Amino acid sequence: MTTDAAAPAALSTRLRAALGDGGVQVDPDVTSGYSRDMMPLAPFGTPFAVVFPETAEQVQEVVRACAEHGVPIVPRGAGSGLSGAANAIDGCVVLVTTRMNRILEVDADNRLAVVEPGVVNLDLRTAVEKHGLFYPPDPSSYDWCTIGGNLSTNAGGLCCVKYGVTTDSVLGIEVVLADGELLRTGRRTVKGVAGYDLTKLFVGSEGTLGVITQATLALRPLPQAPGTLVAAFGAVGAAGEAVTRVVRAGLVPSLMEIMDSVSIAAVEAHLKTELGAGKGAAALLICQSDSGGEAARAELAAIERICGEAGAELVHTTFDPAEGGMLLTARRAVLMALEVYGAWLTDDVCVPRTRIAELIVACERISAEVGLRVAVVGHAGDGNMHPTIVYDPTSADEFARARRAFDDILAAGVALGGTVTGEHGIGKVKREWLAREIGPVGVRAHRAIKSALDPAGLFNPGSMFALDPS
Ligand SMILES: Cc1cc2nc3c(=O)[nH]c(=O)nc-3n(C[C@H](O)[C@H](O)[C@H](O)COP(=O)(O)OP(=O)(O)OC[C@H]3O[C@@H](n4cnc5c(N)ncnc54)[C@H](O)[C@@H]3O)c2cc1C
Repeated sequence: MTTDAAAPAALSTRLRAALGDGGVQVDPDVTSGYSRDMMPLAPFGTPFAVVFPETAEQVQEVVRACAEHGVPIVPRGAGSGLSGAANAIDGCVVLVTTRMNRILEVDADNRLAVVEPGVVNLDLRTAVEKHGLFYPPDPSSYDWCTIGGNLSTNAGGLCCVKYGVTTDSVLGIEVVLADGELLRTGRRTVKGVAGYDLTKLFVGSEGTLGVITQATLALRPLPQAPGTLVAAFGAVGAAGEAVTRVVRAGLVPSLMEIMDSVSIAAVEAHLKTELGAGKGAAALLICQSDSGGEAARAELAAIERICGEAGAELVHTTFDPAEGGMLLTARRAVLMALEVYGAWLTDDVCVPRTRIAELIVACERISAEVGLRVAVVGHAGDGNMHPTIVYDPTSADEFARARRAFDDILAAGVALGGTVTGEHGIGKVKREWLAREIGPVGVRAHRAIKSALDPAGLFNPGSMFALDPS
């Protein structure tokens, strides 16, 4: 896009007129806090301004003003992303949605909620729970990431094995397009097939097609308190075999997570407790069933039997919420536990569920090759693994080796028939990997959609695709 030379002063005046002084920040000490997300490898620039609209009309004003001055917009929720998708580029306006944080409606009879994009995931979950309802998407960052960010990354989480990813819970959205017009997509009904599925197009588009200003979300009845099973394996292959057999048996737990030996050791040291894995466990599976009563008991008993047959050295099932909660806390604590050893760089790769063990073995090889600790933790139920590399952020050499490990893990995942991202997205860190995965025709189709909806490249340029199409 071509930037108007007089843009900064004139645009600043216009933005202040639309949003008020409190809605526009140009102080570099403040704006630098909005220049990047949580992915250390992704490039980032210096924004010209950061704006905090409170209404869709204000978003429209910002979009129109930026379009006229040729200044790109990077939409942003909480900045918890792990792909650099919300990273600023030089001279852009970062549009932060956190002040658009109202839950506009909970329609319990039709099991839906209408929300603004800045609502924090956990706040929505808590609000609908009061109506006996459940919003399933549960990224581990759920206590600070926003619904707008979740939609734009098509976020996953721990419960995807049973309830799917974010897109499976979205009925419709309201989005401000590059010309400032408001597009409403989707429906409030359970079914509906009118027209192209534009809702699904925007979900996962990483802020490259427009700014989501409202979402209509499908809710489910609140599940029963879960029962929890933990199984320890002496060999990674046996844990992988157990996952395969659970899937083959047609069992659908509400959660099935895997931790490798590096993750187990880190969490045990961090929490100063034993996870019941016994000494030298190579992998731990944590499963839950939220089917309730006898159904849950039967489901977990079947998984217990399968784990035993696959070679588990220890299997334990509990219906005590405190004990189950403790095991889940341990799973969620992996990244924090790794901070004792250095900075973490978490990868995101999804492989067929039959090949999880091979990915973990590949990560062990890569760890030895680069000489850095790699902990593998992930959503075994859907094959989405997060190998996490630990490095010393003050060492350029270790940083370079961490970057190499990051790419080698993606290559290993692809070689196993996987995809380069299961939930974190492409952002500014995996653009080349997207091109490799979808091929030239796929890239052309993506670019055609982008230029149809955003011909001047106003939204999040450089995310998902390189700026230069050549
Ligand atoms: C500790 C930790 C654990 C995590 N666990 C998970 C996990 O289990 N599963 C998972 O999927 N992710 C996980 N993440 C990644 C991250 O939390 C998710 O990607 C989340 O969806 C990002 O939400 P956000 O509000 O922080 O969005 P941001 O990071 O601010 O933005 C993400 C993307 O959405 C775009 N965007 C944001 N709001 C809008 C809007 N209103 N309109 C258009 N575009 C918009 C941005 O431009 C950017 O492209 C984790 C991150 C951390 C730090």
